Amino acid sequence: MSASLQVPVERRQQVAAALRAKLPDRVVLHDPEDTRPYECDGLAAYRQLPMIVTLPSNEAEVLAILDVCRELQVPIVPRGAGTGLSGGALPIHDGVVISTARLNRIVKVDAYSRTAVVQPGVRNLAISEAAAQYGLYYAPDPSSQIACTIGGNVAENSGGVHCLKYGLTVHNVLRVRVATIDGEIVELGGEALDAPGLDLLAVFIGSEGMLGIVLEVTVKLVPKPAVAQVIMASFGDVVTGGNAVASVIAAGIIPAGLEMMDRTSSRMVEPFVRAGYDTDAAAILLCEADGTALEVAEEIGRMSEVLQAAGASAIAVSQNEAERLRFWSGRKNAFPAAGRISPDYYCMDGTIPRKHLAHVLTSIEQMETTYGLRCANVFHAGDGNMHPLILFDANKPGEFERAEAFGAAILALCVEVGGTITGEHGVGMEKIDSMCVQFGRAELDAFFAVKRAFDPPMLLNPDKAIPTPHRCAEFGRMRVSGGVLPFPDIPRF
Ligand SMILES: Cc1cc2nc3c(=O)[nH]c(=O)nc-3n(C[C@H](O)[C@H](O)[C@H](O)COP(=O)(O)OP(=O)(O)OC[C@H]3O[C@@H](n4cnc5c(N)ncnc54)[C@H](O)[C@@H]3O)c2cc1C
Repeated sequence: MSASLQVPVERRQQVAAALRAKLPDRVVLHDPEDTRPYECDGLAAYRQLPMIVTLPSNEAEVLAILDVCRELQVPIVPRGAGTGLSGGALPIHDGVVISTARLNRIVKVDAYSRTAVVQPGVRNLAISEAAAQYGLYYAPDPSSQIACTIGGNVAENSGGVHCLKYGLTVHNVLRVRVATIDGEIVELGGEALDAPGLDLLAVFIGSEGMLGIVLEVTVKLVPKPAVAQVIMASFGDVVTGGNAVASVIAAGIIPAGLEMMDRTSSRMVEPFVRAGYDTDAAAILLCEADGTALEVAEEIGRMSEVLQAAGASAIAVSQNEAERLRFWSGRKNAFPAAGRISPDYYCMDGTIPRKHLAHVLTSIEQMETTYGLRCANVFHAGDGNMHPLILFDANKPGEFERAEAFGAAILALCVEVGGTITGEHGVGMEKIDSMCVQFGRAELDAFFAVKRAFDPPMLLNPDKAIPTPHRCAEFGRMRVSGGVLPFPDIPRF
């Protein structure tokens, strides 16, 4: 668990006064009782009170905050809804949080071009709700979509159940309007499918608040499918279930969703939402088909055949919309359900080639014995995006440290089998050391070069996502000759 640092009172007063000189009082919070709600994001094991929180309502106020921070060299942490799971919105003790809570306007829904223009603090689900009257919706659907913001989705390149078929945030955003640390407003991308010049939009999406503040986003909307049905397939062991995932994709089927839950997960969620899961199965797969009635009937038939051939012990198909939503409600509520069986949980996020699912799941089972902790697996199996939930009790000495070590071992295994240390939750603070496992120094220096190009004073969300040479050396993943670190000029940390 992280210890909270404090900033000298005089510094807090200096920065608050400079902000108040340019902004209405309601925008600037600096009393600890007001800033406490911002001390962590969804990775609640790490907490830090920010020096100041700002709540701008328009672009001019965002630019004024950036001006002050630049002049006084104050680090900045952008924040959406704070549902991030990797500590990306974790405050910095001498920094300013820019919350987008008041930048929450849906500017335009254009049914003709099938796009929506929204401010960054608009909730993911609110976009689909606004588009529903035109028979359209925004496809990327993180399980946190009721709360998380589009600004946070852009910063994390978020995914969700439907991203296997419809793509991640990066595939569904056409344009972002961004405030840079210099106080300029730039637009990346455009209204058309491609924009001239280098693809800076793709660089920006997934940059975890380190390159600029998102002020406005143009997203693509897609037609709501006429019909959707979901299969729940049961498996006697996780290896057969894991291999079945690869079989579905190998058969040339791209389901609208392909999710896996192991027995620990289905037993943890069933008493909570009564989704109708087979809690005797070692693993269940949820496989969705969407489209016209004919397309869905055909795909459900083909998927059922493939799943049976791959060793499914039982198959149930949703018979109506209410049942389909019930099957998904268990999956969508898996994280909150973890809180019912364990005081704390640590959600990892790594991606692996699908063909290694069975191997990685059995290795995680063995690690449960090594680290003496239980782990529930509920994840976007079709994308190979694992979400092991490591269950622990922070009040028991050493359990948090064991949970962290368990998580790091899973990520190292993901890299070993050719995968990555993140699929959709970002690196943030949580996985910064694992970046030293995934990347060599040359690659990390290239990432710093990109950051410096956007943010020369290195004030935007510093200390997150890209580890310094020093950090990797401490983590034991970089050779240091004669005590001299390469690239000592990389600032902070
Ligand atoms: C129960 C639960 C389920 C989840 N399920 C999923 C899932 O299925 N798929 C998935 O991908 N994620 C999931 N998440 C993680 C999380 O919801 C996403 O990462 C989401 O995109 C975060 O959005 P947010 O608004 O909460 O951002 P925050 O947590 O506030 O911030 C996340 C990052 O974005 C940056 N940021 C926020 N707003 C801006 C902005 N305007 N400009 C620049 N940077 C900004 C922050 O600095 C931070 O680095 C889940 C989380 C929870 C708690």
